[in-house]
Amino acid sequence: MKRLTIVVFVLLLTLSLHANINVQMKGQNKQLSIAETTINGIRYVETDDFAGVFKSISRQDRTDNRLYLHVYDEQFIFLINSPYYTFKNETFSMHYPLVRKGAKLFLPSFFVSDQLLLHFPASVTVKGKLLTVDVPRDNRVMRIVLDPGHGGKDPGAVGRKNHGQEKEINLGVALKLKKLLEQELGITVLLTRSDDRFVSLQDRTKYANDQRADLFVSLHTNSSKDPKARGLETYYLSTAQSSDARAVEALENGVVELFEGGTAAKSKYDDLNFILSDLSQTEHLESSNNLANSIQQNIVAGTQSYDRGVKQANFYVLRGAFMPAILVEMGFISNGDEEYMLLNGEYQERMARTIFEGIKRFKYRYDRIRNT
Ligand SMILES: [Zn+2]
Repeated sequence: MKRLTIVVFVLLLTLSLHANINVQMKGQNKQLSIAETTINGIRYVETDDFAGVFKSISRQDRTDNRLYLHVYDEQFIFLINSPYYTFKNETFSMHYPLVRKGAKLFLPSFFVSDQLLLHFPASVTVKGKLLTVDVPRDNRVMRIVLDPGHGGKDPGAVGRKNHGQEKEINLGVALKLKKLLEQELGITVLLTRSDDRFVSLQDRTKYANDQRADLFVSLHTNSSKDPKARGLETYYLSTAQSSDARAVEALENGVVELFEGGTAAKSKYDDLNFILSDLSQTEHLESSNNLANSIQQNIVAGTQSYDRGVKQANFYVLRGAFMPAILVEMGFISNGDEEYMLLNGEYQERMARTIFEGIKRFKYRYDRIRNT
């Protein structure tokens, strides 16, 4: 009897230390749970855990101590260290304040167990510690396909001075960029190739479509007959362009004739992809333009390289992508100085970091627009 009491006591203690709010998505079998912790005697959940379950976009404004949280496409504005928040222009109280502990923010459990029901009576029902909720829509950019240009039998452009190969630089930066995106933004990053192999242009885009990627980022280095040509440029799709852009387009599309079966293969791209691109990339041109601008600004600022601007060209590899898609020319391998830098691991790291910053800034803006 005594032993049973102890067992029950230990069990209760464990339960109270590791309490959860359980969430059942309507029409789905598995239950999710949000772990609770006690702060100043009050039950709290970590804001990030809550946001993960409800696919919420959360943004902290450090200057005025606010937390913005989107749930079911509606915005909550919380004041950090205050029990008050606004929702649809009305002020509500959670009785207990939203608190910050270190870098983390904590929401009173009361908000999850009681207030959510009040705001979303059609989507949320509560029974004790179990919430049954509508499946939230996830509009965040969470999946990116990185495309290191060329590979295998196709070396891409080759440097004049050190005979550096474009395919190696592209892959080097892609692998570094993948790490940053995964570690710092928690994004799933997929590569069209992760080693030295040949992948056709069509298969690269198809892969991004099949994987339902939110963004497609193709990485290249530039080349010119003029050994002095230098700098950075970022492209998105268009069928009309300047003669400069046309030269780069010919360079990158040349893969098809050289390595994918000559002119026959080229006309296949022209016929097939043109119809496809009409339906796909057009819808994303504005987003592609924004992504290109965000990346271009960041790579120029971060590397101090010459700014050749954001341009449009008809790249086969961007056509047919059902998502915002851009192509970065990270410098001229035909320019001895730039080739030397591009082959350097530290410079590649910096390049990856600046492209990362560009994607991050774009993502923050895009996530918010798509969720309001
Ligand atoms: Zn290339």
